Amino acid sequence: MKIPEDTLKRIEKLRAIIERHSHLYYVKDAPEIEDSAYDSLIEELRLLEEEYPELISPESPTQRVGGESIKEFKKVTHQVAQWSFNDAFSPEDMQDFDKRVKKMLGGNINPTYTCELKIDGLKIVFEYEEGVFKRAATRGDGVVGEDVTSNIKTIKSVPLKLLESTSLIAEGEVWLGKKNFEKINEERKKAGEALFANPRNAAAGTIRQLDPKIVAERKLDCFIYDLANSSLITQKEELEYLEKLGFKVNKHFKLCQNIEEVIIFWKYWQDKKDKEDYLIDGVVVKVNEIKYQNSLGFTGKAPRFAIAFKFQAEQVTTVVEDIVLQVGRTGVLTPVAHLRPVLVAGSTVSRATLHNQDEIERLDVRIHDTVILQKAGDVIPDIVSVLKDLRTGKEKKYVWPKLVSDCGGDGSIERIPGQAAWKCKNKNSYLQKKRKLYHFAGKHAFDIDGLGPKIIDALLEAELIATYDDIFTLKKGDLLALPRFAEKSVDNLLASIAKARNTTLPRFIISLSIPNVGEETAILLSNEFESIERLKEAKIERLEKIEGIGPIVAESIVEWFEDKENQKLLSKLLKHVTIEQSESSSQDLGKKLEGKTFVLTGTLETMSREEAKQKIRDLGGNISSSVSKETDFIVAGENPGTKYEKALELGVQVLNERELEKIIRM
Ligand code: NAD
Repeated sequence: MKIPEDTLKRIEKLRAIIERHSHLYYVKDAPEIEDSAYDSLIEELRLLEEEYPELISPESPTQRVGGESIKEFKKVTHQVAQWSFNDAFSPEDMQDFDKRVKKMLGGNINPTYTCELKIDGLKIVFEYEEGVFKRAATRGDGVVGEDVTSNIKTIKSVPLKLLESTSLIAEGEVWLGKKNFEKINEERKKAGEALFANPRNAAAGTIRQLDPKIVAERKLDCFIYDLANSSLITQKEELEYLEKLGFKVNKHFKLCQNIEEVIIFWKYWQDKKDKEDYLIDGVVVKVNEIKYQNSLGFTGKAPRFAIAFKFQAEQVTTVVEDIVLQVGRTGVLTPVAHLRPVLVAGSTVSRATLHNQDEIERLDVRIHDTVILQKAGDVIPDIVSVLKDLRTGKEKKYVWPKLVSDCGGDGSIERIPGQAAWKCKNKNSYLQKKRKLYHFAGKHAFDIDGLGPKIIDALLEAELIATYDDIFTLKKGDLLALPRFAEKSVDNLLASIAKARNTTLPRFIISLSIPNVGEETAILLSNEFESIERLKEAKIERLEKIEGIGPIVAESIVEWFEDKENQKLLSKLLKHVTIEQSESSSQDLGKKLEGKTFVLTGTLETMSREEAKQKIRDLGGNISSSVSKETDFIVAGENPGTKYEKALELGVQVLNERELEKIIRM
């Protein structure tokens, strides 16, 4: 099979960029990209080599064990070969691993698995003779490492004498605690020295210090996890024996009866990993029975009986397939990158906003570029940077358009004064109208079940709706005449429209798509004016006095209600809907959360986030989307995002779901 020219070039470029980052990481201890982004590049190369095995060469980074040794240290040729692991990134990858293992073992063999935390430090190989510590070396390239014996001797948890007089080779991970790491970096900052990127690189840099005194000051630590050539029966026994000899073994290992238990262990630690003082980047899963390990053996650089089950990546690499301009409901033009779908922080992402023209220029992102994509916790996917080394010359610069198409007007656009954003000048643009209708029926506004974008498109096309109020006069017969509209779904749709006629003031305000008025502003307005009639008459001065509303928002509100078209639209709409006096805008509430600001992050189990927000608001609390010193509480559900970390940093009080419920019920 002929290999496409583009693929050959891509492989060559991937190998070169991986080599560069590998050198920065292993030799310079100064990585420029996150580990998960590096893993993404390796994975892309591995998949290409799997497709075209004739291209695999021993020099390929997929075939070699990580680092290399530097000349300042004496070289050590390892007595036992040092390996890397193959990676798994999802439960499905683990199920495949389990199937592979069972297939290779043959028969009806069901191996058990040990799970050990994958400590992100530096691998060290230890030699003991008759119970006495003799030598320690870095893993290096797997064959030759560096003699770092004097430095390792400074680590208090490494026994200089074992509790049994035995000769052995043990392997372990040297790491630096997060708190120590911060202290070291603070000192380096004061001294004007370059900062370490993370504790792993600080540990690696420290081990390569030529002065053991400095190493001793840095207070490294070490977990031992493997014994070479042991005659024990299982991996679990090995760990227990190592502990008995006096080694520090990480206590969180677990014996699992099957792969499902392994996945549960991984999920548990995915959530808890940040609680330990050492960095953990996944779970090392090994077949527990040594006899099965031996029959499974090794591939080029990794054992077949073990795998590194990495935690969900928050940064990965992917390719920008296109950049498409999206016209928002208020006419703002947002360039959106269409991406090669990629798994990041647990979900598949295929779109990322590029925000505006300035951002495209700042990133210098082009169509067909490989980019680093980030999605930390519940944060929206964001392009962090472009891997320019992977460019081939075929990338296309995005040309900011002079006109927008399909808008129903002349397509002219203008830059919004004082902002980086552009907008379509045509206020009645078809695209804007469409988006406003999507928003009107959407979750935060009228929340009409069954009236999603596809149905709205069909209704617009059939000219059954043009403005919001038309939704409330839809007739069953007209709907049934449309293609693919069955009686049952038409009945359901009409029932949810009827239900949506009763709404609350905040939802009603949100539904109008007033520029710059989002959920939080709508609540503020609702609490202040308590009726749409009073809001309609509000003057700029009064609006600006409301805490949380600035001059731009105030002006935008007044402008919207002064517009004749909007006035007509509003009065037509009000004929069809009833705005209930919502609890949060009623006079007399038990406002025990008055003045308190809450931020929510992560998934809640017993209520949706919307419900939780509403309950907090009902009690007078405010919701904010970002954490600051002004935040009183952060409610952290499952998998909380970076907001949670920021809250910890700022010392904001953290509530779990149960604590929130207790406050609500009190
Ligand atoms: P690997 O992922 O193959 O895993 C092997 C290593 O895991 C061992 O050498 C050991 O140090 C460690 N380990 C921790 N706990 C263990 C346990 N209980 N049992 C066995 N081993 C355990 O290691 P690698 O080949 O060094 O992989 C490369 C790593 O380095 C990846 O995480 C990669 O992202 C990172 N890296 C990052 C960059 C970058 O630019 N950011 C560059 C190169 C490599």
